[in-house]
Amino acid sequence: MKIPSSETQEKMNNEAKSAYFDLPALDMSVAFPQATPASIFPSCTSDYYQFDDLLTSAEQALRMKVRNCMEKEVAPIMTKYWEKAEFPFEVVPKLGSLGIAGGTIKGYGCPGFSITANAIATAEVARVDASCSTFILVHSSLAMLTIALCGSEEQKQKYLPSLAELKTIACWGLTEPEYGSDASALMTTARKVDGGWILEGQKRWIGNSTFADLLVIFARNTTANQINGFIIKKDAPGLQATKIENKIGLRMVQNGDIVMKNVFVPDEDRLPGVNSFQDTSKVLAVSRVMVAWQPIGIAMGVYDMCHRYLKERKQFGAPLAAFQLNQQKLVEMLGNIQGILLVGWRLCKMYESGIMTPGHASLGKSWITSKARETVSLGRELLGGNGILADFLVAKAFCDLEPIYTYEGTYDINTLVTGREITGIASFKPAAPGQRSRL
Ligand SMILES: Cc1cc2nc3c(=O)[nH]c(=O)nc-3n(C[C@H](O)[C@H](O)[C@H](O)COP(=O)(O)OP(=O)(O)OC[C@H]3O[C@@H](n4cnc5c(N)ncnc54)[C@H](O)[C@@H]3O)c2cc1C
Repeated sequence: MKIPSSETQEKMNNEAKSAYFDLPALDMSVAFPQATPASIFPSCTSDYYQFDDLLTSAEQALRMKVRNCMEKEVAPIMTKYWEKAEFPFEVVPKLGSLGIAGGTIKGYGCPGFSITANAIATAEVARVDASCSTFILVHSSLAMLTIALCGSEEQKQKYLPSLAELKTIACWGLTEPEYGSDASALMTTARKVDGGWILEGQKRWIGNSTFADLLVIFARNTTANQINGFIIKKDAPGLQATKIENKIGLRMVQNGDIVMKNVFVPDEDRLPGVNSFQDTSKVLAVSRVMVAWQPIGIAMGVYDMCHRYLKERKQFGAPLAAFQLNQQKLVEMLGNIQGILLVGWRLCKMYESGIMTPGHASLGKSWITSKARETVSLGRELLGGNGILADFLVAKAFCDLEPIYTYEGTYDINTLVTGREITGIASFKPAAPGQRSRL
């Protein structure tokens, strides 16, 4: 066989690519009439213990508002964007009109929700689409909250109102290529110069960074050797953000590798409230609770989908829902969901009464995520072959849960945060050679 030249190969690849993207979306109702695809989103059957009873009427109303918008506006188009790994800019105004960006922040055009209300909105977005939920969380619970908690009055007035309306978009850059779990050792530098700072270094995995108007970036002050926070504008000379390709989960989220070469940030864009790594923990305390609500929403959506699918599709002359093994899986999923909902709710209440510790938040995030992973995996089995098609939600949700298991502290790191709290012994760093292990 004659192997084509590299130019011909590239041409063939480009042709195949454009032919693929020009294809109309497959109509699943024609291709597989036995079951309804997720573009027509299933009704909510996963709230078995009537969680609404624990919510105020305002929280219940918010829940329905977000649910309706996600089911109507996002469900019909999400598979197409997920498959192409493109961000659905067309839904931004719709998400903006929900008025959920800025979550718990009071004033500056932000909604000033209770953490419970914010959590419910997060779950409802994630129930339909985890990428949209991550987009909002990065923008709102990380970037906006950092400005709200660590910014000056002028910075809050200048940046928060348009961020709350999603007229401008932000990202939050802590992780670096060499410092992931070990983020407090980050090496991006900030050097003081006349009228501002020069930032040099790299960031990795930063959600929304390829198109964000504002980048909240953490860097090490070369004089004090402490972590400081900065707001960098999109077009700052020396700043470059490149999309990370080939992700298997949260494919609509645009994660970027950021390179900063001699980037000048004026004094007015240094966040005065970030003077050590500990200052980021005020933000992470809230955002970790929010991240814990993403798997809750994802697991609910998957259960809702499976519940409908099992009643629609027949095998051996009976609906799949009639088989004992399938019912057992469905009930196990439902039990997990009631458990994670109640733990998530309790976490919010502990935060609201000022008694939530980092260990509580970390246990919530790690345990909820692992239970949701188990739930989604059962759902994937229940749908048989269609359990690996994004069109029926479950495969997409299955993949989307993987990065959530890893970001905002991996399962292991969050476990160790709780472990440190309950034992008083930190076990993040292995003992140095020659030292006796403390374990
Ligand atoms: C889709 C996605 C979106 C993200 N978005 C952002 C973002 O917007 N902004 C941002 O700043 N970051 C973001 N991140 C980065 C994320 O927070 C990191 O991926 C995460 O902290 C883990 O770091 P790492 O990938 O370098 O893994 P590593 O730190 O290399 O860890 C690899 C493995 O080793 C384990 N491990 C590491 N240290 C220890 C230890 N001491 N004890 C036991 N086990 C250990 C980990 O648990 C993991 O299993 C994102 C990541 C992903 C995948």
